[in-house]
Amino acid sequence: MFIRRLPVFVYHTPASVGEALDLMAKHGDKGRYIAGGTDLLIAMKKREAMPEHLIGLSGVASLKGIASDDSGVRIGSLTTLAEIERSGIIGEQYLPLKDAVDVMGSIQVRNLATIGGNLCSAVPSADTAPPLIALNASLKLVGPEGERTVPVETFFTGPKESVRKPQEILVEIAIPKPDPASSGCYLKLMRRHAMDLALVGVAACLTLDSGTLVCKEARFALGAVAPTPIRLPEVEAQLVDKAINENVAAEAARIAGMQCRPITDIRASLDYRCGMVEIFTRRAVMGALRRITA
Ligand SMILES: Cc1cc2nc3c(=O)[nH]c(=O)nc-3n(C[C@H](O)[C@H](O)[C@H](O)COP(=O)(O)OP(=O)(O)OC[C@H]3O[C@@H](n4cnc5c(N)ncnc54)[C@H](O)[C@@H]3O)c2cc1C
Repeated sequence: MFIRRLPVFVYHTPASVGEALDLMAKHGDKGRYIAGGTDLLIAMKKREAMPEHLIGLSGVASLKGIASDDSGVRIGSLTTLAEIERSGIIGEQYLPLKDAVDVMGSIQVRNLATIGGNLCSAVPSADTAPPLIALNASLKLVGPEGERTVPVETFFTGPKESVRKPQEILVEIAIPKPDPASSGCYLKLMRRHAMDLALVGVAACLTLDSGTLVCKEARFALGAVAPTPIRLPEVEAQLVDKAINENVAAEAARIAGMQCRPITDIRASLDYRCGMVEIFTRRAVMGALRRITA
């Protein structure tokens, strides 16, 4: 499969978002944006995608980099997973995202793969999706009709499907500044320790009342156990207004195990995934608590 040649295509190198949009308008359904190519080129080798014009975004400087201010952090869609892994601000304040990129692919993959490509591929197991949902992130999309912002939790509509129109470019990911009394974590179940897709991905973010340590706000998301990454408000409701402990986490975990909608496939059965959602939810909630109180 992997020794198949790529189909013939023309590679375009726009230097700005405007140029990239013009190229896409010109080539229509024969065109496709490409970032690191770690998903798209494999799909092309498998003949699952056959674009005749690849519009490379890697020369568009405005799509790259990580910037932070009082409102939070903005990550350009062409920022690589390796750059996010090395970022001081992500490692200090946005730990669930750091947890996710740390366990994605290999060093070589992380040097090429971008956060925007991970989200735009929209596979149910995309590792950056659950932490970004738990961190309340939103996406800026730019297309021929202008600009719009979409919360990550409403971006995905089905396996490999999203609200992004084919002409639209994902420009940046914005994450609000977290409360000082909050933290979170992302845990990923894999069959091996590296280079594997998630069988289950669990992200939890908690904000505690700094005086009483009671949970003021909880955001919780799962990956790889439904047709899209999902947020589970029922789990969050179980955590809010409670002092977080093993019993509270166990009840939240029981709810998560009932609410997820995995399938049985070649990689894991439905029952196994539900059981592991429960175990990983309890660990993620207690992990977030430990990070806040540490
Ligand atoms: C060996 C290997 C291991 C992997 N391991 C993991 C893993 O552990 N976890 C995981 O989640 N994924 C994994 N992946 C999948 C892949 O590496 C990631 O999804 C990666 O982040 C995709 O980014 P990219 O820049 O390579 O996307 P590309 O392949 O360039 O693009 C993917 C899709 O997104 C579109 N696109 C890209 N950028 C934009 C943009 N800015 N605006 C609009 N559309 C855009 C493209 O048109 C294409 O449809 C792995 C892949 C490989 C080959």
